[in-house]
Amino acid sequence: MSSGKSYNSVVLVKQVPDTHHVTGEVMTKDGTMNRGALPAIFNPEDLHALEMALQVRDQYGGTVTVVTMGPPSAAEVLRESLYRGADRVILLSDRKFAGADTLATSYALKCAIEKLGSYDLVFCGRQAIDGDTAQVGPQTAEKLDIPQITYAESVVILGETEIVVQRAFDLGTELVKCALPCLLTVVASANRPRPASARKRIQYKLAATPLEYRNLLKKWPEFETEAALDAYLAEHNLRIPVWTAADIGADEDKIGLAGSPTQVYKINFVVLETTESKDIPPTPEGIRALIEELVKEYIVG
Ligand SMILES: Cc1cc2nc3c(=O)[nH]c(=O)nc-3n(C[C@H](O)[C@H](O)[C@H](O)COP(=O)(O)OP(=O)(O)OC[C@H]3O[C@@H](n4cnc5c(N)ncnc54)[C@H](O)[C@@H]3O)c2cc1C
Repeated sequence: MSSGKSYNSVVLVKQVPDTHHVTGEVMTKDGTMNRGALPAIFNPEDLHALEMALQVRDQYGGTVTVVTMGPPSAAEVLRESLYRGADRVILLSDRKFAGADTLATSYALKCAIEKLGSYDLVFCGRQAIDGDTAQVGPQTAEKLDIPQITYAESVVILGETEIVVQRAFDLGTELVKCALPCLLTVVASANRPRPASARKRIQYKLAATPLEYRNLLKKWPEFETEAALDAYLAEHNLRIPVWTAADIGADEDKIGLAGSPTQVYKINFVVLETTESKDIPPTPEGIRALIEELVKEYIVG
């Protein structure tokens, strides 16, 4: 089925708060999360989606374009994508996108993908660790009117017009064939994401969006003006484009709050309370006694 064809891939990635490390200071009294108190990271499964796209490009040729919708700081995941091997990155950022639920998010992403022109594959993570809905990938496929394969673990066959993908389940795997172009949502067991390359880190160290220029001028006073910085970055292919709602031709009724029918009805604040505590002496004997107790209680084995 191998056809000598190369593939243009789009990878959708999200910058998320590191919700694996939520502490007391992060949760506010009303049960919402103070996102500013958590470090922002690359959504973990999106790294696997990027790796799958890079492997397709490395094996068959083509391009990998990474798109994220988010605030100016989301440029960080785009730089990380360049360090790992992406060919092109685009930030969707506009106040008009703010307050988007998954419907409005997937609509904006669909508009951006269509603006990119022709593509063969769209890769997403299965789920984002903050919103946790796993809806954006499937909704984007629906809006693009292309088939989707969720829980993708590996590309088994990639032909001129069709793809065969292994899907992962709790109880096993399944092979699914569908027509191209299609969208895959990728799970963490798919691959081991390559680390950032030192050479690309140096190459793209200065890559930036125009939204970052004001702050960058404080670090790089030698450029003197935003125009001088912009001209330098554009010349060296380091200018990360920012697309607004108008740039992607989005209908303003379908983006941001206006395009988000989801209402948050109630937030339950779950408090895990300590029922029992014990002082452990910081001595080898104290630690040995603790381990023995944990083993005896089958807490560790
Ligand atoms: C009423 C309402 C208002 C909201 N307001 C805001 C807000 O103001 N600010 C805010 O940050 N969030 C807001 N959210 C959360 C926002 O809807 C979700 O973060 C977003 O739609 C993605 O959903 P998810 O996190 O469940 O992603 P999932 O559906 O779990 O993500 C699956 C995959 O889709 C892709 N993906 C998801 N989001 C993006 C993205 N932004 N860019 C590129 N790829 C992506 C990634 O590949 C990801 O792995 C709001 C939600 C609701 C319900």
